[in-house]
Amino acid sequence: MDNTCLFCRIVAGEIPATVVHRTETTLAFRDIDPKAPTHVLVIPVEHYADVAVLAEANPAAAADVLATVAAVAEAEGLAGDGFRVIFNTGEHGGQEVFHVHAHVLGGAPLGPMLAGR
Ligand code: 5GP
Ligand code: ZN
Repeated sequence: MDNTCLFCRIVAGEIPATVVHRTETTLAFRDIDPKAPTHVLVIPVEHYADVAVLAEANPAAAADVLATVAAVAEAEGLAGDGFRVIFNTGEHGGQEVFHVHAHVLGGAPLGPMLAGR
């Protein structure tokens, strides 16, 4: 655990979050500032900075994150109409929290993939 990492502190229970799904290796909780009717963050419980680091260091945990994304989409009723999964990565990707997380977004048509396109 990285004590300076917001999401590690959520895993540790030091910062409250609305948890919607939990496995041995992943945690899913609602984004504090939702950008869609449903906006859930899925993380590995172990700390990896971003999706590239995760995929290189622990492919099994990366697969677990994707399986939890699918489970959340199903449980949140998004599977039928569809949803979007985003891994913001690095500066150009707009990543703000450097503990890898999948944004699972849905509940309404989400519009163009990128603003202004
Ligand atoms: P990023 O920009 O790194 O891809 O996304 C970080 C996300 O974390 C943002 O969507 C932001 O709203 C969310 N976030 C930031 N702080 C907290 C928090 O304390 N709790 C929860 N649940 N989400 C947070
Ligand atoms: Zn962390």
